[in-house]
Amino acid sequence: MAFPQRVFSGVQPSGNLHLGNFLGAIVKFVALQDHYDCIYCVVDLHAITVWQDPNELPRATREVTAAFLACGIDPKKHIIFNQSQVAEHAELAWVFNCIARIGWLNRMTQFKEKAGKDRENASVGLLVYPNLMAADILAYRATHVPVGEDQKQHLELSRDIAQKFNNDYAASIAAHGFGKAFFPQPEPLIQGPATRVMSLRDGSKKMSKSDASDYSRINLTDDADTIAQKVRKARTDPEPLPSEEKGLDKRPEADNLVGIYAALAERSKADVLKEFGGGQFSTFKTALADLAVAKLGPIGAEMKKLVQDPAHIDSVLGDGSQRAQAIAAETMKAVKDIVGLVHR
Ligand code: ATP
Ligand code: MG
Repeated sequence: MAFPQRVFSGVQPSGNLHLGNFLGAIVKFVALQDHYDCIYCVVDLHAITVWQDPNELPRATREVTAAFLACGIDPKKHIIFNQSQVAEHAELAWVFNCIARIGWLNRMTQFKEKAGKDRENASVGLLVYPNLMAADILAYRATHVPVGEDQKQHLELSRDIAQKFNNDYAASIAAHGFGKAFFPQPEPLIQGPATRVMSLRDGSKKMSKSDASDYSRINLTDDADTIAQKVRKARTDPEPLPSEEKGLDKRPEADNLVGIYAALAERSKADVLKEFGGGQFSTFKTALADLAVAKLGPIGAEMKKLVQDPAHIDSVLGDGSQRAQAIAAETMKAVKDIVGLVHR
C-alpha cells in the first residue's frame, strides 16, 4: 500500500548543537522542504533519558528551535515543535513498548555506548529510547527520515516495530478499514560526504553534544576565532593529503576533515582532493577554517539574535505543536481502535 509521503526528524536539546548535527541532519531538513511536507521536532523527552538540568533544558530547547529557523526551515509551510507538547508521542511509545522485544533493545549500540559500564544504573528511558523514536516517526506515519549515520540502527528498529504492529494486528487493521498495513516502513535518508562527522580530537569517536571536550566539536554558535582555533588544533597525521579518495583509507582524521570540507562546499571528496591533494594539512586547514566560518558564522549570529526573543520561539513551538497534535491524535485514535482500547 502506498502511504502519502511525509518527512519527520528530531534533534535533542541535550547540549550545544554542532557541525555533525548541522551536516548530518539540519542541512538535509532544509533541502527536503521543497519536495515534502516536513515535521521537525525538538525531542525534549529523548533528552531527559540522561540527566538534564531543569534550568538549562528550556534554553537548549529554544536554541535548537532557533537553529532550525536560522538554517532556513519555514515554520509556516512545515511544522516545528517540541515533543513534550504532543502527548501522543509518549502514548504511542507505550504501545510500542509492548510491541518491541527486550532482545531488540539490548542490541542497540547507542544504549551500550551511552549506558557505559554501569548499565544497571542507566535510566529505563535510555533503554526504550528507540521505541519513543519509532513513536515520533509513526505518530505521523512518516515515510522519510533524514538522520546521521549513527541513527541507522534505530531507524531499522522503527521499521521492525511498524512491521510487527502491522502483522500482530493484521486482522484488526483490515477490520477497521485500514487495509493491509497501518504503519508505513519509514525510510532513512542518510546521504552525502558527512553522514558521520567525527570528533576533531579522536577520529574513532563521533562528534557529539555530550563529549566533555569542547575542542572535539565545532558548535553552531562558536565565533570565528574559536572555529579557526578548533580547526587548527584538530588532530591529523603527519602525511600530506592524498590526491585520491582511496588514500583516505585508514586515515580517519584526514578522511573526516576532507568530508567536512566537501559537505560544507557541496562538493565530492574526490573533487576536494583534486584541489588539495599532495599539499600540507596546514594549507588545507586554513581553507577549511575559512569555509566553516563563512558557512556557520551567519547561522550562529542569527541563532543568537533569535534566542533573545524567547516569546517568539515559544509561539513557533506552540503553533507547531497544535498542528502536529492534530495529525498525531488521528493516528492515536486509529491505534486505539486497532488495539482494542476503548476511547471517547
Ligand atoms: P547526544 O550526544 O546527546 O546524543 P547528538 O550530537 O548525537 O547528541 P542528537 O540530537 O542525538 O545529537 O542527533 C540529532 C541528529 O544529528 C541525528 O539525526 C543524528 O544522527 C545527527 N548527528 C549527531 N551527531 C552526528 C555526527 N557526528 N555526524 C553526523 N550526524 C550526526
Ligand atoms: Mg545522539
